[in-house]
Amino acid sequence: MLKGRHLIVPTDFTVDELNDLFRLADSIIANPSNYSDVCKGKLMASLFFEPSTRTKFSFDAAMYRLGGNVLGFSDPNTSSAAKGESLSDTTKTIANYVDLIVCRSPKEGAAKLMSKASSVPIINAGDGGHQHPTQTLTDLLTIRYYKKSLDNHVVGVCGDLKFGRTIHSLVKALSRYDNTRFIFISPEELKMPEYVTKELEGKIEFVQTDNLDKVMDKLDILYMSRVQRERFVSEEEYLRLKDYFILDQQKMQKAKSDLIVMHPLPRVNEISTEIDNDPRCVYFEQAKLGMYIRMALIMRLLGV
Ligand code: ASP
Repeated sequence: MLKGRHLIVPTDFTVDELNDLFRLADSIIANPSNYSDVCKGKLMASLFFEPSTRTKFSFDAAMYRLGGNVLGFSDPNTSSAAKGESLSDTTKTIANYVDLIVCRSPKEGAAKLMSKASSVPIINAGDGGHQHPTQTLTDLLTIRYYKKSLDNHVVGVCGDLKFGRTIHSLVKALSRYDNTRFIFISPEELKMPEYVTKELEGKIEFVQTDNLDKVMDKLDILYMSRVQRERFVSEEEYLRLKDYFILDQQKMQKAKSDLIVMHPLPRVNEISTEIDNDPRCVYFEQAKLGMYIRMALIMRLLGV
C-alpha cells in the first residue's frame, strides 16, 4: 500500500510496489479517459526551488489530467523562504492546505527533511546532486516499455556521473533487477561517487571507462546525461569537460540494432541532433512516459 507514503529515494518502494505502479501506468496509457476525474477535489503543491521543465510540467499535467488542481511556485523568491523561513516550517504550513507536496531543491537531503515535517506525502522531485526518484520511475517505465523487461541488460551510463542525480537514482533502482551489468562512462573528474560504487561491489557487475566509442557495441541501453554546470565550483573546469562525449551518427553505427538511447533531458551538446530521428533514440518518448508514471504515482499516494 503506497497511500500516505513519501518518495525520497527510488528504493523507498519495493519491486512489487513498482510493478503495481507500472501496471497502473499501462492502464492509464491505454484508457486515459477512465482516469480523468479520479483526483477531483484534490490539491497538489508544486514547490520548485530550482529550475525544471519536464518534471514540473509533467507533474502538473498529471494532476490536471486526473481532475485535480495544482498550486505552488517555481520562483522561491515569491515564498517566505526569501524571508528566512526554514524548510520545515514552510512544509508544515503548506501541508495544512494540500493533499500532496512535490518538491525540488538544490540541497541534498531537503526532501527527507520535509518528509519529517509533513503530514501529507512528499515526493522528491530532485534534491541537489543526490537523487531524483520520479525520473527513475520514468526511466524504468521506459525500459520496460521498449525492452519488455527490466532484467538482463547491459546498461551504459555516460556523462556526468559525479553530479547526475538521475544517474545515482537509476543505478540504485536497476541494481535490484536480475543480471544488470553497468558500464560507467565518464572522464576521470566526473566518475561515479564511491558511495554508489561501494553499494554495487560484490553484488553487481560494473566497469568504468572514459571511452564511449569502445563500448558502443556492448550496450542494450545507453543512458546519456549532460555535464551539470550548476554543480561546478569552477566555470573553467565545466568548460573543459562539457563536450567530452558527443553521441553522433558515427558512434550509433557501432551500436546494436535494438539499443535504446535514453536521456533525462535537458540535452546540451552530448547528443547530436542529427540522430534524433534514429528509432533507437527514445528520449522524447521517455519524457512523455514520465507524465503517465506520475499520474500513477499521484493516484497511489492519495489512495484514489
Ligand atoms: N532534468 C534532470 C534533473 O533535474 C537532468 C538534468 O537536469 O540534467 O536532474
